[in-house]
Amino acid sequence: MLNLVNLLDDAKCFATVRQLRWPDGVVHCPKCDSGQVTKRGKDDTQLHRQRYCCQNCGSQFDDLTDTIFAGRRQPLRTWIGCLYLMGLNVSNQQIAQELDLNKDDVHQMTTQLRQAIVDNKPEVQLAGEVECDEVYITAGHKGNPEALKKKAVKGGGANSKGFGVGGRSPRKSRRS
Ligand SMILES: [Zn+2]
Repeated sequence: MLNLVNLLDDAKCFATVRQLRWPDGVVHCPKCDSGQVTKRGKDDTQLHRQRYCCQNCGSQFDDLTDTIFAGRRQPLRTWIGCLYLMGLNVSNQQIAQELDLNKDDVHQMTTQLRQAIVDNKPEVQLAGEVECDEVYITAGHKGNPEALKKKAVKGGGANSKGFGVGGRSPRKSRRS
């Protein structure tokens, strides 16, 4: 039987994410937004996932850092396949069938993808929320922003990550 995910090319899926988050083709650091970035080999298990090092602030990141696709159980091509089917207005049940996943997983994925897309509405709308976000971090994690960051990465929810397109702006609409 034909399986959509098996037909998707890993290299192209990662290229798609790069294109979405860095449309001008210049990789930008998610932390300081510098374009002075060098490649630093590929991920150990995902051979097409490019790693980078920022020459400005020294932070290390990769294609998926700070995107909704980071730290997921399902491989990137499953998510891209899901996104594709969502674009065709396919029901969750049918997506589950096509991707060989259970319906609950698909429900979670489509919900998070939709939320991520909403979170990436034009910058103007986000301006007020960014300020709100700063206040929240300062108040709740006094003097320890690193702890919060780790927590956010671990949690991996759509509410703590951009979708990719917004990867260049560090903090977006986390608290919408
Ligand atoms: Zn940097």
